[in-house]
Amino acid sequence: MEKGKLFVISGPSGVGKGTICNRILEETGMKFSVSMTTRKPRENEEHGVNYFFVTDEEFQKVADEGGFLEYAEVYGNRYGTPIAQTLERLEVGIDVMLDIDIQGAQNVKKIYPDGVFIFVLPPSLEELKNRIVTRGSETEETLKIRLGAAIAELQHAREYDYCIINGDLEEAVAAVKSIWCAEHLRFSEEIFNKIDI
Ligand code: 5GP
Repeated sequence: MEKGKLFVISGPSGVGKGTICNRILEETGMKFSVSMTTRKPRENEEHGVNYFFVTDEEFQKVADEGGFLEYAEVYGNRYGTPIAQTLERLEVGIDVMLDIDIQGAQNVKKIYPDGVFIFVLPPSLEELKNRIVTRGSETEETLKIRLGAAIAELQHAREYDYCIINGDLEEAVAAVKSIWCAEHLRFSEEIFNKIDI
């Protein structure tokens, strides 16, 4: 059986990765890898849908048991990608999307170099700030941390396979969908099993 493809999306906080991912999942049938985090849930977030919200102790237990594909501390909280859910899906031919930070993407690349790495850039820093403020989820302190990290994060765009600018959502979604299509058209020997010769 043909394996699924792993798509990894990163970019600064507020750039719109979540919105892009949701659209891509709807339009491609790809599955989202729900991460575990020690961050508190936002008002509109659901346990098991956006994240598995856990305590520090619960997170550490999964880490100690080797249950994460990767994990990292981001903006003062811990986040990890559950290994089982991701690898099992890829094994049975399902594409998986990870929305993870740069450290996470670097670690996934070492373990899974066949992954497709996509970086999302904001049209400007001012717009990035507006989006985080409009989301209303941050305190003054956490807003400062997230914005402070953004410029350094942008420098890592060059380590990714693809970079897209999320100025217009429809254009950004179309771009990620094109990447998904193109990656499925890469040559593989299995193509000969699909044609009548
Ligand atoms: P937020 O708190 O805004 O939901 O996410 C903060 C950052 O953590 C984002 O850059 C997001 O991509 C990243 N993140 C979410 N889940 C994971 C994960 O499982 N591993 C890593 N390394 N980063 C994650």
